[in-house]
Amino acid sequence: MAKVLIVLYPDPEAGHPPAYARDSLPVIERYPNGQTLPTPSAIDFTPGELLGSVSGGLGLVKWLESLGHDVVVTDSKDGADSVLDRELADADVVISQPFWPAYLTPERLAKAEKLQIAITAGIGSDHVDLPAAIEKGITVAEVTYCNSISVAEHTVMQVLALVRDYIPQYQIVVDGGWNIADAVTRSYDLEGMDVGVFAAGRIGRAVLERLAPFDVRLHYTDRYRLPAEVEETLGLTFHEDIQSLVKNVDVLTVHAPLTAETHGLLDDELLSTMRRGSYIVNPARGAIADQDAIVRALESGQLAGYAGDVWYPQPAPADHPWRTMPHHGMTPHTSGTTLTAQARYAAGTREILENFLSGQPIRPEYLIVEGGAYAGTGAHSYAKKD
Ligand code: NDP
Repeated sequence: MAKVLIVLYPDPEAGHPPAYARDSLPVIERYPNGQTLPTPSAIDFTPGELLGSVSGGLGLVKWLESLGHDVVVTDSKDGADSVLDRELADADVVISQPFWPAYLTPERLAKAEKLQIAITAGIGSDHVDLPAAIEKGITVAEVTYCNSISVAEHTVMQVLALVRDYIPQYQIVVDGGWNIADAVTRSYDLEGMDVGVFAAGRIGRAVLERLAPFDVRLHYTDRYRLPAEVEETLGLTFHEDIQSLVKNVDVLTVHAPLTAETHGLLDDELLSTMRRGSYIVNPARGAIADQDAIVRALESGQLAGYAGDVWYPQPAPADHPWRTMPHHGMTPHTSGTTLTAQARYAAGTREILENFLSGQPIRPEYLIVEGGAYAGTGAHSYAKKD
């Protein structure tokens, strides 16, 4: 029998379950590239329920316990006496979501003597030290595609919110005001702007497709070019590198994984080459940006706005400068954990667990690390390009 340690974000302050706004979710048959949705043998939850917090347990607890496995669900993940640290030593499986990441550092992995698999219920496994997982032969898997469209929609929302300056206008209404001049002093149309996408993978490409109808001029860079017919249909201008991309756009959106190559990429030097008054929306990983450089660029006016929803560390401390910097539209890492996305990644996590527990292969598209090497999606996205 296995010990499964599940690290999830805390329940709603008013308790679990919350009152739901809707009664059902739309049924999606396939992901845009044809990949099938998760195929577990069964699910023990109703799609649309809050599954990502402790009491939701990703809909896995009843099923795992019925098979005799030992299950620990906790939100306590930081600090020396966290439940995560206490329970890790004899855990066979650790599951966490990027929104509330169980940081599996080399030190923690060294103590996790029985750990066989770390599952990301979501996308982005940079909270696991992948070289250390490779060295220790630990499998790392995530639910590829589960929330890519969720993040793409959030990106479009944040682009519009920044360019139109929506958030201060909403606040004027809430505060009982009506000064239209104040409300529009920083408000522009997106139409006609140059919009650049850094990394056109599943999310980046979905953002390009969703922004094309706004009659913007679309640009992108990636390690590999999109097919010529996609470039033609969407009217894309390809740039060889991010340096060329950022110089030529008004709005930059960021969708690369966090790797040694992308860490700290948006620094003072790169930001200084952008058009004055550019906007950045980065729902990929906070650490792709130099935290203080973003604050400086907003304060000087070099950037007109910054939004995204991934921070480092998470949860962000109360005095994190991104909470109070001017002209930001940050959210607390929610883009990929809509109730819609939760249903998909809970089912995908169960599919991965069913395969792992029965000794069956895990789909290559879910694999990041296996057998002491990058594998599947990980071999493509996390390994360095030759
Ligand atoms: P994909 O793997 O589909 O796309 C990532 C893209 O990044 C690929 O096209 C890859 O290139 C490209 N890339 C990798 N490194 C570089 C580099 N150094 N320079 C340029 N391009 C690079 O992943 P997704 O689109 O599904 O997700 C992207 C990221 O978004 C995730 O890694 C995760 O960090 C983040 N994310 C955030 C979520 C949230 O809730 N905020 C939820 C889901 C994901 P190629 O394939 O051509 O080699």
